[in-house]
Amino acid sequence: MIDDLQLEIRRNRRKNTATITVFRAGRIVVSVPTHFTNHNIRELIARKRPWINKKVKQLASLPPPSPEVQFINDEGFLFLGEDRRLKITYDGFVGAFSTEQQIVVSVPAGLAAADQARAVRKELAAWYANQALTTLNDRVEYFAQHFKQTLQAAPSRVGVRYYKSRWGVCKPNGEIVFNWCLIMAPLSVIDYVVVHELCHLRVPNHSRAFWRLVASILPDYKESKRWLRRVDHKKCLAPFGSSRASMT
Ligand SMILES: [Zn+2]
Repeated sequence: MIDDLQLEIRRNRRKNTATITVFRAGRIVVSVPTHFTNHNIRELIARKRPWINKKVKQLASLPPPSPEVQFINDEGFLFLGEDRRLKITYDGFVGAFSTEQQIVVSVPAGLAAADQARAVRKELAAWYANQALTTLNDRVEYFAQHFKQTLQAAPSRVGVRYYKSRWGVCKPNGEIVFNWCLIMAPLSVIDYVVVHELCHLRVPNHSRAFWRLVASILPDYKESKRWLRRVDHKKCLAPFGSSRASMT
């Protein structure tokens, strides 16, 4: 304990420099080379105190990690911004489809709970990815056609995959890849990400010119940007692992 800080000191023979890591709930781990004395540590903490305070405060203001998704009957999942209930069936086929209120996932009968959850998760992810690819292809085509003059370029390929921390990527070769989690967002939000990535074909950075280009196609884009930033939505968008996402 130094001042009011609860510190875990670790002496590491292989280390040449000291590192401080601040975790959630104020846990602070200080790794130091073996030759560091208690006096050295005190000095280090005093010097780094403003940074530590800032980190502790930042982490305390973060929302709690999202609760584990169980992939069980009647659990809510988002699709195009609307809540659908998961319905698990054992119809002899393996796959998924949606109705107005439900996403129906069929898995083999007689699986243990954990295996069934895994099977449902896999089919659900495949279904989402498929839906995402169809919808995103459609929206890309729509905007690329209607704003041909503005964009002055079209993507070389459109794909989807699971990104832990991004909604979409526009690659230097003109390929655009989206996070299939996007299919859980309302269409207006999907459109914003589509337009965002399409605009990168012309302006590869986030300069003023870039945002002007986005606004010329979607004047209300800021609302969608906010939607993506809102933690509740991020949580809904990430039942398959991550709760962080940004855009490039
Ligand atoms: Zn971007």
